[in-house]
Formats: sequence, C-alpha cells, structure tokens
Amino acid sequence: MTEPDDALERAQLLLALRQRGIRDRAVMSALERVPRERFIEPAFRPLAWADQALPIDCGQTISQPAVVALMAQALDLAPAHRVLEIGTGSGYAAAILGHVVREVVTVERFRTLADAAARRLDALGLANVEVVIADGRHGYGARAPYDRILLSAAVEEVPAELFEQLGPDGILVAPVGPAHETQMLVRFARGATGLERRELGPVRFVPMLPGIAAVL
Ligand code: SAH
Repeated sequence: MTEPDDALERAQLLLALRQRGIRDRAVMSALERVPRERFIEPAFRPLAWADQALPIDCGQTISQPAVVALMAQALDLAPAHRVLEIGTGSGYAAAILGHVVREVVTVERFRTLADAAARRLDALGLANVEVVIADGRHGYGARAPYDRILLSAAVEEVPAELFEQLGPDGILVAPVGPAHETQMLVRFARGATGLERRELGPVRFVPMLPGIAAVL
C-alpha cells in the first residue's frame, strides 16, 4: 500500500521525469501507478521514490526510475504489443511494461528474485506478466516472436538469438558495453533497410551472466 506521505516524493519524481524528456503518456501513467516501494527491501523504503537504483536480493539492483522510463519510451510501446524483458530483478520494470502493453514475458536467472517478482506482480493483479526462470542470453524462444525486447542487464554485444526472436518492425533496447563500467543504452529498430542503431545515453547496469544461477 502506498503510504500517504509518499505523495510529495512521487509528484517530484514524475515532474523530474517530465523535465528529463519523458513524454510517453502511457509510460508516465504506469510510473505513477506502480508502487515502487513494494519492489524494494524494507530498509530502503524511504528512498522508494528517489530517482536512484537500489540494491535488491542476490547482489542485484532495481533500476533507476528515469532509466526505466527512458527505456520504456524508447521502445515505442503500443497496447497490442508482446514484450520480452531479460533481467526481471525486482519485477519493477516488468510491472511498468505490464501496465502499458498486452503481454510481458520476463526472464530471470535467480529463482529467489523470479519468485519474489512473480508474487509482487500477482499481488498487483498484473496477470499479463509472466516470469520465467531461464538464461535470458538465449531469450525465450517458446513465446517468440516479440514486438519489443528489453535487456535489463548489460551485454558486450546483443546475442544474435535475441534479434532472431524480434518480430518485423521490432525494437530492442539494451545497455551495451563492458561489465562493471558505464555502458551505452542502444535502441535497435528493425525496418525495411535493416537494423537502425541509435545511442540514447550512458547507463550503468549489472552484467548479463551466463546460465541459471547455481545458488538460488
Ligand atoms: N529490471 C529490473 C532490474 C534488473 S537488474 C528491475 O526493474 O528491478 C538485472 C537482472 O538481470 C538481475 O536480476 C540479474 O540476475 C538478471 N540477469 C543477469 N543475467 C541474466 C541472464 N543471463 N538471464 C536472465 N536474467 C539475468
């Protein structure tokens, strides 16, 4: 439940996002509606509506709201879309996507995170978001193709298998660059002339790691 005294911080965050150029109304409305405090550890609750990444279980992080907003906007989402996210983490970005599009498949390699995220998404009534435990470097072929693909973990190079699971006119957004350093958020749009690549700005994400996590 949203604490009433979050209202000011929420309003300030939404204003800051608007000032940073987030114009997509469906994305803004999703950011307003998803209770971020439910996706973070109790100790960090006072920072739930601050525009910053925060630590979650398994040594991972919940993304910064401005970065989630930027990625979601860059995906040019439409209500009919089916979206694949790699890197469920807390489930926050999946919840934002789930408010905007028809169907979301989100893949996570830690069972602990996947289970907790699935519980949160259920509690919010987001029945259109499915959490899958798998190695997202291979995407999730069982439900491909996807209209949009979002990588919530950094890659040195986007795996070819992910592009294979992207439908015609598809858009894929990914942090591309070295692990544990600054990466570039890149938008790949599939069009008549091939893949158009656009750089959106520097970001810092945890790396996409191989395999399902051994320590769950
Ligand atoms: N979108 C999340 C942030 C995720 S942090 C949120 O809003 O909270 C990145 C996540 O990617 C971590 O949880 C990490 O475990 C996961 N990850 C890293 N490599 C992966 C892989 N190969 N397959 C699936 N998930 C992966």
